[in-house]
Amino acid sequence: MKIKFLGTSHGVPEADRFCSCTMIEAGGRLYFIDAGAPITDLVIRSGKRIEDTKAIFTTHAHGDHIGGLIGFVDLANWFFKETSADIYMTESAPISAINAYIEAVGHVLDTNRLRFNVIDENFVYQDENLKVTAFPTEHLNRDSKRRPSYGYVVEADGKRIVFSGDLSIHLKHGDFPKAVLEEDVDLFICEMAHFNIKDVTQYLERCKARDVRFNHIGYMETFEAIEALNGKYKFPVKIVRDGDEISFD
Ligand SMILES: [Zn+2]
Ligand SMILES: [Zn+2]
Repeated sequence: MKIKFLGTSHGVPEADRFCSCTMIEAGGRLYFIDAGAPITDLVIRSGKRIEDTKAIFTTHAHGDHIGGLIGFVDLANWFFKETSADIYMTESAPISAINAYIEAVGHVLDTNRLRFNVIDENFVYQDENLKVTAFPTEHLNRDSKRRPSYGYVVEADGKRIVFSGDLSIHLKHGDFPKAVLEEDVDLFICEMAHFNIKDVTQYLERCKARDVRFNHIGYMETFEAIEALNGKYKFPVKIVRDGDEISFD
């Protein structure tokens, strides 16, 4: 299994960071956690085939996590016709919007090849290459309204990786992923756009991950402050940037 970070920025892209998108290669197929970056362009620039895409798992319906989907679906629909992919969304409204866009540019979405699904908190995906299990987060639990958002546990080749998804402001809902507090995981990829080091320290002290990488770093904390955490825990703490790869082969 190989992971490539196609986009590691927070809500807004920067000169050297696209918004959230991580590509996972397993069994010769491509999987994605979030599609906030121009995913089609970046797959092609990575020398990979769009047609090898098997599934896209989105964490929640914010533009920095799903904004690249429209372009992907459009091209996979009318041009890369061998593409057959499952696209997992957290709400149905963006699916209707993408459908409307495909119609607006003069096409009809081939729903046999590009299959949208809305997940819930019991979501588990499993195929011959990997298993993906969702867990709920409280990122969109605001002002007494709650919309769904998720993180994911990805298991492949005997490895276990946790993607935090986006979490609550200052972690005030205590939604730091239980999976990394209760079980051994090989890699924990954690956002840092909605809280700072002070908020996360109590959880890092109990974290059982063997390797922690922060992405989605926003305005609350500097890169230098996060890098200074490395060496303080049993696991390395690093920052991931666009283009970084982690290989488990
Ligand atoms: Zn975000
Ligand atoms: Zn968000």
